[in-house]
Amino acid sequence: MPRVDADLKLDFKDVLLRPKRSSLKSRSEVDLTRTFTFRNSKQTYTGIPIIVANMDTVGTFEMAVVMAKHAMFTAIHKHYSLEEWKLFAANHPECLEAGNVVTGEMVEELILSGADIIKVGIGPGSVCTTRIKTGVGYPQLSAVIECADSAHGLKGHIISDGGCSCPGDVAKAFGAGADFVMLGGMFAGHDQCAGEIMEKNGKKVMLFYGMSSDTAMKKYAGGVAEYRASEGRTVEVPYRGDVELTILDILGGLRSTCTYVGAAELKELSRRTTFIRVTQQHSQVFS
Ligand code: 5GP
Repeated sequence: MPRVDADLKLDFKDVLLRPKRSSLKSRSEVDLTRTFTFRNSKQTYTGIPIIVANMDTVGTFEMAVVMAKHAMFTAIHKHYSLEEWKLFAANHPECLEAGNVVTGEMVEELILSGADIIKVGIGPGSVCTTRIKTGVGYPQLSAVIECADSAHGLKGHIISDGGCSCPGDVAKAFGAGADFVMLGGMFAGHDQCAGEIMEKNGKKVMLFYGMSSDTAMKKYAGGVAEYRASEGRTVEVPYRGDVELTILDILGGLRSTCTYVGAAELKELSRRTTFIRVTQQHSQVFS
């Protein structure tokens, strides 16, 4: 008989972080840099643990150059040619991870099989239609809380992948225990993205699409194979110029979160996190 898990599972929109006593005097005092030594490879990483998703629109070499300036990295998409890679990859280190999963038992399985970092998220992505096409998924905040617990018990690490729509969501993902947070849609529409800037109804827009969308499958596989359905959508996003301002907005928000909960370092954020369940995240008056 199918089992129904009646435990409440939550998404970023269902919670806010409770402010706590803080002795920090300025947001500039907050250190967002983290250093990790990975369980299996023993490699060490130091940086601000935000990753641009490996989607061909945002996971570009151009994006990687700007992100690297801020000690963040980019999961480069897999559709560059070997020649393009050779030109780019002299001074940029690579990193491998496994996923995507949403349950503690799968995290443990992957870590014990040799993975260092596990990507967590099935269905939360901004251009993902997996939940609609398959009925499969797991609310992202709960997935991160549960998977982080399993990973950290084994000295592994996790990436919260997908579902962040604003800097506050990034902070909630770190608060929930994510070691890294991967973002696609939040980096779409910038100069460093692949694709043309188009004019629609007097506004500049760029195309952003899921890597399992019709658009991506037509581009790289000649179309959607008969045995499968597309699990991504294609959207036009407003053109937003240089990604630099978006990066500063995300990092500024994150520093501010840390000051509100009294975390001098990003490392302390999850220990300083108490989520409160909410029915509304922010005022809708001018929405
Ligand atoms: P976002 O930050 O835009 O909410 O989510 C980005 C993540 O969405 C990616 O890192 C990837 O895991 C996921 N994603 C990207 N394209 C697709 C797609 O076509 N289908 C599905 N199911 N997920 C996608």
